[in-house]
Formats: sequence, C-alpha cells, structure tokens
Amino acid sequence: MELINKSALELRDLLDKREVSSREIVEAYLERIEAVEPKVNSFVTLTKEQALKDADKADKMIKDKTATSLTGIPIAIKDNLCTYHVKTTCCSKIIKDFLPPYDATVITKIKEAGMPILGKTNMDEFAMGSSTETSIFGPSKNPWDLERVPGGSSGGSAAAVAAMEAPLALGSDTGGSIRQPAALTGIVGIKPTYGLVSRYGLIAFASSLDQIGPFAKNVSDAAALLTLLAGHDRRDSTSLPLEKVDYLQNLGQDIKGLRVGVPVEFFAEGIDPEVESNVKNSIKALEEFGAEIIEISLPHSEYALAAYYLVATAEASSNLARFDGVRYGHRSKEDRDSVTMFKHTRAEGFGPEVKRRIILGTYALSSGFYDAYYLKALKTRTLIKQDFDEAFKKVDVLITPTTPSPAFKFGEKNKDPLAMYLSDIFTTTANLAGIPAMSLPAGLTSEGLPVGVQIFAPALKEDIMLNTAYALEKAIGSIGFPALEV
Ligand code: GLN
Repeated sequence: MELINKSALELRDLLDKREVSSREIVEAYLERIEAVEPKVNSFVTLTKEQALKDADKADKMIKDKTATSLTGIPIAIKDNLCTYHVKTTCCSKIIKDFLPPYDATVITKIKEAGMPILGKTNMDEFAMGSSTETSIFGPSKNPWDLERVPGGSSGGSAAAVAAMEAPLALGSDTGGSIRQPAALTGIVGIKPTYGLVSRYGLIAFASSLDQIGPFAKNVSDAAALLTLLAGHDRRDSTSLPLEKVDYLQNLGQDIKGLRVGVPVEFFAEGIDPEVESNVKNSIKALEEFGAEIIEISLPHSEYALAAYYLVATAEASSNLARFDGVRYGHRSKEDRDSVTMFKHTRAEGFGPEVKRRIILGTYALSSGFYDAYYLKALKTRTLIKQDFDEAFKKVDVLITPTTPSPAFKFGEKNKDPLAMYLSDIFTTTANLAGIPAMSLPAGLTSEGLPVGVQIFAPALKEDIMLNTAYALEKAIGSIGFPALEV
C-alpha cells in the first residue's frame, strides 16, 4: 500500500481498522525522506529513532483504545519550536547547538496525542524572511520546481508536506510565514487567531504577532491538527481562556447565503495575472455554491507592510537581546571584557537579515524616533484592525490572493530586502489585526506552479473560515502533488 500519498485522516482510518501500524507509516515516511531530502532539504535534524519508538507507543495506544484523532500520525516541526533535548536552532549560527531543557506547549500536546515527530524543519534565520534563503543550513527547494523557493519563513515545513515527507507539519506565522509557503507549495496553512494557540516554547520573533499553526495536505487534516493545538495555556499570558472547539466536526455545512467580501485593495496593480485569475475562479466557485459576493474596502491595507516592518523589527530587537553569549549558544573568543564579548558574539552569530532587523527596530524605538516610527506604526495597526471590524459588519469572511506571485527563483529577491518584503503584502494585515487567516490551493499556473487563495475571518471564527475553505476545496478539487523524480 502506498502510504505517503494519503492524508493524515485517511491514515488514521487505516490505523483504526488495523490495516496498517504507526510504525509502518513512520517507516514509509523515513524512506521517503531518505529518497528526496538530497533534493528538497526540508529537514535540518531528523529524529528517526525517537519517531519509531513513539510509533510503537502510538500503536499501543490504539490497541488499548486510548488513542485520539491524530494518534500514530507523524509530523514535522519548524526549528523555532523548543523540543526537549532535540536541537532547536532557528537556523542561526548563534544557537546552532541549543538543546532546549523543555518542550513547547504544542510539542507536549503532540507527544501526548501519540504523534511521532520525524524531525525539525528548515526556516529563514529566526523566521525572518520569505524564502528560507537566510538559513545557515542552505535553502529548502520548492518540490514543484527545484529552482524555486518554497516560501518562508516556514519553508522547510511546507516543502516537507508538499514533497510527501510528512503528512502534517507545524510552522509559525508572524507576517505570513505559514500562509505564504503554503501558497507557494500548493498545500493548506493556517494562522490562527492571536491567543488561540499557546506560544510557550516558540522562540520569539515579534511576540504581539507570532502564532503557531498547522500545515496539511487538505482542509480536514488542518482542522484536525488545529483542534489539537488550540486551547488555553497558563504559561502564555496572551493565551485566551476558551472552551475547546472541534473544527473538524464543523466542516461540510452549507455555505448558501454566506457573505464573502472581496477587498478591492488586494487586486491592485502588480499582482501576477495568473494569480488573479485563479483567485477569481475561487470566488466564482463560492458564488456557485450560493455565497453572496460583496465588494469591500480595507482602505489602510496599503500601510500594512510599513507598519508590520516597524512593529516586527521593534519587537525583534528586544526579543533577540537575550542572545548575548552569556545565557545561550555562540560566544565569541574576543572576550577580554563584557562589551567586547557582546559585540563580537552578536556580530559573529547573527546573519545579515537578522542584523538589519535589529538595527531597524532599535532605531524605530530610540528616543527621538519613537513617536515618528514606532508609535505611528501602532496607530496604523489600530486603523488596520478597525478596517476589518467595519468589513466584518458586512461580511462573514474575506477572500484574497495569499501572495502577489507564484514561487520565485532562488536569488531573485534576496539581494533586495524590499522586493522580498513585498511578498508579504497580502498576509501581514491578519497578524496586525490578530484575526485568523489561511491559505489553500486555488489552482496551478500555466507553468505548473501552485497559486494560493487566502481566507480571513473575524477573531475566533476559525470554524467559519475552515468551513468556507472546505467548500472551496471541494469546488476546486485537488491540484495534486509534485512529481518529484527520485
Ligand atoms: N516574511 C515575513 C518577515 O520576513 C514574515 C515572517 C514570519 O511570518 N515569520 O518578517
């Protein structure tokens, strides 16, 4: 039986029927990883032995009837999520040998559910980037075209799912790092409402924007994984105290009468014509299902990218201050006094993009510039949030392209930070407003590259967002998976 091309829930069904064991599933994935990793480079650490042990444990849970909805299903983890005694590097020299003394809350949940962890995935250094080109381990490749980027920063997780090296993966999204790579690799990715999933154990980039979320082959698998991840955690002060919702149960409801907003600002000049046509087809498909399509304006969207790159860099400059050679990781040999040691440690340990952000953020927060930059960005953030509040009085969800273009080539944007930042133009607003957003495949371009369509919903309306995505997925049909020759 070919296991790697099945969805997580299909595999779960086979496990329940005892047609396959979790060990067999993990073995099939490890074999696939061995075959395609030399081409794709999704993983930076593999945890084969532990995954097999965990698979045996999962098989026992299934036998003992203590299994839950994803028991026995393997998963890949972005390398900025702390895993007990398994290297967690953020793909940065400064913590390249860091062995966390604890698990992130999401990792605890995954372990308790009996999901074997296959390994840690590649990413842009400290999650700053849109292509994985800033990773110290070299970039991941887009399985649809190995000359193109898989997106970023969670590019390794997305590439792993698209290349069928894992049925599920975890990423983090600060300004688009789950949705953009999901779009570029033709899979599903969700950025949950801020506060829905605990950030405890996620190495912080910009704390008021960061959220952890799932990557999956389809909407149902993503809904099942989000159900597992969500929930209050007293270790994260921004975690919301909420009752648990089963997002999977809720799928498949009629969308007749659903009000779908189309923000005009997201279809402006500069968007690739094939991205536009694929997304417009998605909108038409929802209309055919009985949804009401309403044109909407989000007038402050044009300032989102500027506001994002001030808020995110300001917070990063503060969060990354802890990497000083005293408490973690790399420490420079130039240590004749503490200031010299700090300076050299950080100069040697961080890559150029991380340094750029620390400098930018420190500048935006510094006395004399705070009001002009940081404070203004916060005010803009409020206006962006108010745009959504107004829009959601008229519509239930919003639909847009996820990215302005399909996957770009290596080297195309990494010499020009602004060109790279522009690939986040449609994703950062959701982080600034704290609302949920997701990307799912809308189709393929004539060159055979995936295009993503993005759905926004009001805070904590993941159920409506996922139900809309489920309907859309049915209408569009699967775009399939890349024919990666091995
Ligand atoms: N690409 C964006 C950035 O570079 C988003 C990153 C993210 O979401 N982690 O900041």
